[in-house]
Amino acid sequence: MQTLQVDLGTRSYPIYIGSGLLDDSALLARHIAGRQVAIVSNETVAPLYLERLAQALKDYQVTRIVLPDGEAHKNWETLQSIFDGLLQARHDRRTTVIALGGGVIGDMAGFAAACYQRGVNFIQVPTTLLSQVDSSVGGKTGINHPLGKNMVGAFYQPQAVLIDIASLSTLPARELSAGLAEVIKYGLICDEPFLGWLETHMDVLRELDNAALTTAIARSCEAKARVVGADERESGIRATLNLGHTFGHAIETHMGYGVWLHGEAVSAGTVMALEMSHRLGWISAAERDRGIRLLQRAGLPVVPPKEMTPEHFLEHMAVDKKVLDGQLRLVLLKRLGEAVVTADYAQDALQATLSTDYR
Ligand code: NAD
Ligand code: MG
Repeated sequence: MQTLQVDLGTRSYPIYIGSGLLDDSALLARHIAGRQVAIVSNETVAPLYLERLAQALKDYQVTRIVLPDGEAHKNWETLQSIFDGLLQARHDRRTTVIALGGGVIGDMAGFAAACYQRGVNFIQVPTTLLSQVDSSVGGKTGINHPLGKNMVGAFYQPQAVLIDIASLSTLPARELSAGLAEVIKYGLICDEPFLGWLETHMDVLRELDNAALTTAIARSCEAKARVVGADERESGIRATLNLGHTFGHAIETHMGYGVWLHGEAVSAGTVMALEMSHRLGWISAAERDRGIRLLQRAGLPVVPPKEMTPEHFLEHMAVDKKVLDGQLRLVLLKRLGEAVVTADYAQDALQATLSTDYR
């Protein structure tokens, strides 16, 4: 097992990474204060892992809250059903909420924990690669609003993150690739040597090699923990974690949620960010292509949807959370391993990037 630390003063917490952590009673007990635990999961993950986790918690009063699966259910109604479950079983302020599932479950259970009786403890047990390397670390929680994704939420840090890499064995390959988009992102924005490591290990990662997964997840969490530790509430450097996301969100929105997975849209969006960084003269064509090749080897799309015009992109990008005072800030690469968030770019370069034939 590997242990990392997210340094946030009194809100600091450990990230454990290993195989079979899901039912490690002693590890769980270390981070549970009261006698009550509520496990929040969904209809897909619960049949696979919930009873194992519940067994490991047999010394506690355990409530099982199983939600419908999918981003479409990351809403107010589902959140309310978590509160229903907690209140019906008379959970008090010393309750610990455990999120067992991907990012949708983690975001919702975390937000429920932030709100329930003004805040109860919570533990993340992420079961998708994306949630293991990204959403479970950093304390962003929330739900979607019909008018915008993740528009209602809170910063709320967990007590601990337990990453059981064995849970990835049941994850569909397409979801694994989607997670790899975020893993590659860390290399591109802040860890150039990691890109080299990924180039060597991409094939074994996709075969779920334990040692390779542990390294890739740990290195990703280290990067995220470092960035979050420096800028918890995204007043600056934390925005670099959104490399490829502004273009990617436009793709997700335009195509309709769920048609492209988030990681897939981020991959094509990252290709666009690489292209634009190249057009600004910051990275070479070879560096751009190195990034693209790695995304491709992860099984990810590297061409934005053909039906999307530059106007489509501009329209969707105008509502991005990174628009401040009417200025669209973009995450771009000064070089491989160094990202900047900037509104200071030639408009022509953006237009050319949107008009590029990527194929
Ligand atoms: P997800 O939670 O929808 O999981 C993807 C699919 O995999 C689901 O069908 C799920 O039921 C299934 N699944 C999960 N674990 C499994 C397993 N071990 N075996 C088999 N199937 C499994 O999607 P995701 O990609 O994990 O997360 C996306 C969500 O995370 C989005 O809502 C996004 O907004 C959010 N997010 C949040 C942050 C943050 O900082 N809080 C960061 C990135 C993404
Ligand atoms: Mg993301």
